[in-house]
Amino acid sequence: MLVNATEMLQKARDGHYAVGAFNVNNLEWAKAILQAAEECKSPVILGVSEGAGKYMCGFPVVAAMVKAMLETMKITVPVALHLDHGTYEGAKACVAAGFSSIMFDGSHYPIDENVEKTKELVALAHANGMSIEAEVGTIGGEEDGVVGMGEVADPAECATIAGLGVDFLAAGIGNIHGVYPPNWKGLDFETLDKIHAATNNIPLVLHGGTGIPADMIRKAVSLGVSKINVNTECQLSFAAATRQYIEAGKDKQGKGFDPRKLLAPGADAIKATVREKIELFGSMNKA
Ligand SMILES: [Zn+2]
Repeated sequence: MLVNATEMLQKARDGHYAVGAFNVNNLEWAKAILQAAEECKSPVILGVSEGAGKYMCGFPVVAAMVKAMLETMKITVPVALHLDHGTYEGAKACVAAGFSSIMFDGSHYPIDENVEKTKELVALAHANGMSIEAEVGTIGGEEDGVVGMGEVADPAECATIAGLGVDFLAAGIGNIHGVYPPNWKGLDFETLDKIHAATNNIPLVLHGGTGIPADMIRKAVSLGVSKINVNTECQLSFAAATRQYIEAGKDKQGKGFDPRKLLAPGADAIKATVREKIELFGSMNKA
């Protein structure tokens, strides 16, 4: 069933586990993630970036597809359809399209403007029964052409934004999008601890979940992280499985060129990655 993410993340926070937010790019992606979540009896968040939304012909298409899939696939676990790194305009478009959750990434605005826009979108989201995530301190790496420097969030700014009524908060703690470089220094747990202490137990969000070592994930969860975003890792496993299929020449055997066959190994690989993350995050059987 489609729900907003507030209750599932509060339960995760109280139960000391995290819910995975997996980005979707097309029908196969959404199907694989939903299958994995249902089999694991885990709540799940489907993340949609502005770029992926455009790729899928717009947010209304994504919302209609996911809602129909929940019915036809007989999904019983709680599912949130969430805008990932939304702009001000994108957030409004997802409210209109029938998403159940939005992220407003105002981290690149001066704090005053971030506050003003976040306030407005909190009111709009809540009036529509939706949950809303805000971000303080840019997350490093690249997302849809926007390159952040991976700054560490200021706990006082986190407290200000959390106080605006957002339901969960993303804060930069040295995490980055994409693949982590070999010289990465790891997560800044000291800052995470300060942010957790300053933000009244609001569920915290860890972006850039790909490739963070398991022990760091567990420690982050123990310090209030209740939502972990995974995007790149599903892309990498999809690409590797597809490459293997092609390199083995399977597309040239019989009807191996049939897209339903060609895309199957990649979809299975996404499922396996999602299942692995659900186990690591501890949300198995928490639906
Ligand atoms: Zn992110």
